[in-house]
Amino acid sequence: MPRLIALQLARCLEQGSFSRWYRAMMMESHSYLITSLLLTVAVLALLEAIFEPGAQIARRLAWIGILAIAVISAIYSIRSYFHFLMRAEHIANQATCGDCGVYGRLRLIGDRHPHCDVACKRCGFEWTIIDPDTD
Ligand SMILES: [Zn+2]
Repeated sequence: MPRLIALQLARCLEQGSFSRWYRAMMMESHSYLITSLLLTVAVLALLEAIFEPGAQIARRLAWIGILAIAVISAIYSIRSYFHFLMRAEHIANQATCGDCGVYGRLRLIGDRHPHCDVACKRCGFEWTIIDPDTD
């Protein structure tokens, strides 16, 4: 599942916007959250169908198979939600200029994947943003 979040950051910074990258990360992580919530509803509906009185065994087994897929998908989605959210927050916490304190006004000066060398657009201070999963 590892995605090249630092690579995406570098691409967005080349186009001039840290906030665009952050917004994309939030949209992606929250789409996983919504997916996991929908799958949770599906799991509850499947449980109700499985325990419905008078249902045939073959139908119950089919529901159980679908239930297993839904549970695995829900776990994957909630894991992906936290994964993207935590990585985005970790990188966002490194987006404050160490000199003037401005947040998120970055200019890419070097892409050494998985590290991004950036400079503050206001004062020119330079530092490196490190993707936490690739230390
Ligand atoms: Zn600065």
